[in-house]
Amino acid sequence: MSDARSEVGSPTRLTVLAGPTAVGKGAVTSWLRENHPEIWISVSATTRKQRPGEVDGVHYHFVDDARFDAMVASDDLLEWAVVHKQARYGTPRGPVLEALAEGRPALLEIDLQGARQVRERMPEARFVFLAPPSWEELVRRLVGRGTEDEAERERRLETARAELAAEPEFDAVVVNHTIPAAAEELIELMRS
Ligand code: 5GP
Repeated sequence: MSDARSEVGSPTRLTVLAGPTAVGKGAVTSWLRENHPEIWISVSATTRKQRPGEVDGVHYHFVDDARFDAMVASDDLLEWAVVHKQARYGTPRGPVLEALAEGRPALLEIDLQGARQVRERMPEARFVFLAPPSWEELVRRLVGRGTEDEAERERRLETARAELAAEPEFDAVVVNHTIPAAAEELIELMRS
């Protein structure tokens, strides 16, 4: 491909991918990062602890509370939210605007609260809901990931129930049967 603009939709339209906990949003974006470098993917700031294998500046900008406070105070974040009542996550605004100004197809992978804030501020963005094949499958994926303790899993399931109910708010739904298929479907939407 010689020009991403001609390949992937409008040069200025942002795509927001949201969906319930453990549905595989992170896996879909990782797959896109590896297989579709023409797509610009926002790197969020977060106050949560870095997990093994995560790279600062690639998966997240890992920041402390004071730094996050400063970003909020100076209105550096397009949106931000406390996720799972645990940590703060936010989208640095500048890089998003730069990517859009360059005409790059741009993607945010954020939680539902963040998606709603982006809709307030950028209603022209495209909102895509990543859905699990079923509730049972979502629970299986949540438990299977094994990175959370019992209490944390319960908290996340509670959040996921509320998040699933938000599906009708979105412009499009992609069901995550497999990561590559869901990622390709998302790209098709970004091209449409
Ligand atoms: P994790 O800690 O497992 O990487 O992510 C937890 C949740 O935070 C996921 O649902 C993810 O979509 C969400 N998240 C990641 N970055 C952002 C962000 O910048 N803003 C918001 N609102 N949510 C985010």
